[in-house]
Amino acid sequence: RGALLSVDDLVVQYRRPGAPPTRAVAGVSLEVRAGEVVGLVGESGCGKSTLARAVCGLTPSEEGSISFDGTPVRPLGVRRRDPALTSIQMVFQDPYGSLNPRRRVGAQIADGIRTAAGRGEDVDGATPEDLLTRVGLPADAATRYAQEFSGGQRQRIAIARALAARPRLLVADEPISALDASAQLHVARLMRSLAVESGAGLLFISHDLSVVRLIADRIAVMYLGQIVETGITAEVWDNPRHPYTQALLAAIPQPDGAGLLPAELPGDIPDPAAPPSGCRFHPRCPRAFDGCDREVPLLSDDGVACRLYPAAA
Ligand code: SF4
Ligand code: MG
Repeated sequence: RGALLSVDDLVVQYRRPGAPPTRAVAGVSLEVRAGEVVGLVGESGCGKSTLARAVCGLTPSEEGSISFDGTPVRPLGVRRRDPALTSIQMVFQDPYGSLNPRRRVGAQIADGIRTAAGRGEDVDGATPEDLLTRVGLPADAATRYAQEFSGGQRQRIAIARALAARPRLLVADEPISALDASAQLHVARLMRSLAVESGAGLLFISHDLSVVRLIADRIAVMYLGQIVETGITAEVWDNPRHPYTQALLAAIPQPDGAGLLPAELPGDIPDPAAPPSGCRFHPRCPRAFDGCDREVPLLSDDGVACRLYPAAA
């Protein structure tokens, strides 16, 4: 199977007056295939959300390319998307802000059905009630308002609305981090099963490796705008190679989801506007050695960007 989404050497930059440009995404390559779940993991501020927005055609890139089913993804302007991109749907972190409090849930899901119809999909017989049932809510939720539901239920409604648009790719940016611990795994597993069942790809973005590993086929670990390790989920979990991935795995997630890093990993994530020289992880790396502050490690063919694993000659 070819890639549904293909991101190649992508650079996304922010400009602020009086400050040097910040490369929030600094050369990322990534693929998602149809029916595949890819988990993108990293600390907040590492560029995950910026990458997600670029993939959805919501933010322009500086260099590199994104293609969706062979078509380039480019934003048309502020808040405007190419209608062809409606087969990429996003689920956001905040299920409170992403639903309209003044419209009934069913009407908001019907918007998604109309989006699919507008793209020429056959939506005969598609109803908000069916979609609500698919995400595990009662059909009569359609007649109610978002604020009558819990955070986890609201995220299910947001997922139903995204699914209504018949996406071929779902991009979920921290979709569970605002939910109660008890709802997190349910919603993550639901997203996986709905994506796999409909043959869509799912890019599931989270800081929580312990949840991602339960639903992703492949994992990509991001640090300061770059992917430092990628591979089959079980292989990354059982045999993490990059010192940053090793640190993430050694970490105990905090209940509030804020701090993920273990005590033995010093320092905060550096300012992406002024990334460290050489390996961007070197100031925090417990295994840094001579030259790590000068030489930039590239992602090898077997999916790790660290000088401890030199590429085979
Ligand atoms: Fe650590 Fe050096 Fe590998 Fe970077 S290249 S992760 S500093 S060992
Ligand atoms: Mg984010």
